[in-house]
Amino acid sequence: MTEDRLSSSTEAALRERVKELSCLYGIAQIAARPDMSMDQILQGIVDLLPPAWQFPEITVGKIDLDGRTYSTPALRGSHLKQTADIVVNGKSRGVVEVMYVVENSSQETPLFLKEEQSLLDTVGQQVALIIEQQQSHEEKQRLQEQLRHADRLATIGQLAAGIAHELNEPLNNMLGLAELARQARDVPEQYVEDNKEMITLLLHAREIVKKLMFFARQVPAQKTSVDISKIIEEGLHFLEPRCVSSGIELVRSLSRDLPEITADPSQLNQVLVNLVVNAIQAMPNGGTLRIAAFLENKSIKLVVEDTGIGMSEDVLKQVFIPFFTTKDIDMGTGLGLPVAHGIITSHGGTIDVTSTVGEGTRFELQLPLAGSKSIKEKSHSVVIQ
Ligand code: ADP
Ligand code: MG
Repeated sequence: MTEDRLSSSTEAALRERVKELSCLYGIAQIAARPDMSMDQILQGIVDLLPPAWQFPEITVGKIDLDGRTYSTPALRGSHLKQTADIVVNGKSRGVVEVMYVVENSSQETPLFLKEEQSLLDTVGQQVALIIEQQQSHEEKQRLQEQLRHADRLATIGQLAAGIAHELNEPLNNMLGLAELARQARDVPEQYVEDNKEMITLLLHAREIVKKLMFFARQVPAQKTSVDISKIIEEGLHFLEPRCVSSGIELVRSLSRDLPEITADPSQLNQVLVNLVVNAIQAMPNGGTLRIAAFLENKSIKLVVEDTGIGMSEDVLKQVFIPFFTTKDIDMGTGLGLPVAHGIITSHGGTIDVTSTVGEGTRFELQLPLAGSKSIKEKSHSVVIQ
């Protein structure tokens, strides 16, 4: 080998190496840009591929990921390709490809280099890494959002507890006085009527205060050992006629022999009623209401699922906030779900909701078995689909 040839082959190898490094450097730069969406990142990466191969003018770069394709302008002709897998968290999600496009197959086809295959493998790994990072970033943001939401509810809970506490006593006193006044004799008819109306309004106000206290977990639970299936059966006994008259099919799937849990039966009944009434109201033209209770991971899981109107993302975010309602004034007070949330939380459980507009809503409750600790730190979550 002459010195000349040696230096020219070294030069060629160096050139290839520089191209390879620029490609990887380009990918690292794209991946570090926070303003780019995943689609833009992947498109940016395929654009970097052709210049890194020996014959850029006939090279097409392509990424197939989760059924979506990103590619440089496709040239026509026969294809000769190199492929690398994109494996994210041990699961194959797609491929990254480089194709040489030649006019006709009789034309002398250029061959790929071994180095190019290893570059492509590295690109596949880089893409997988970028996806993993993106996923963990999204997961982190989701958790933070949940935390903020829980924090907000806790603050509202404190406020509600304070207000409820301050109002409870004067309301009770007023009610006592109104009752006393009712016993007055020889008073005008109008006075009697007004007094009756006043008592009704005071009872209503006291009911709201009581619900606020439930939400704020200020009402001590009267806990005993309870059979959750029995509570559901008894509750549904009263609710079923309402379902029937609304054209709703009630489907129960209650596991037999569920272990007893320590809970306040009347509070759990209240939760069931609140969820079922919401479901019935969400299915004005009928539908299916499914209620299931089963054992899962050392806790009892209760599912209340309807095929009703569902909720928008905006509604879903607010359902546990007291007085949030989308209903007319005589249909709802916006306290059903906050109360259910307060009760379940005070039992060490969790309440989750998922919903799709036009398809329906699913509430999933978990209650710890006696003796086991509360299930999770967070007490609820909303998942928008
Ligand atoms: P209320 O029923 O008095 O409005 P809730 O706290 O029970 O108060 O519910 C709050 C809101 O959540 C409702 O107004 C409704 O918009 C929404 N919601 C609750 N349950 C469902 C459901 N099963 N389907 C659709 N929307 C629901
Ligand atoms: Mg309600």
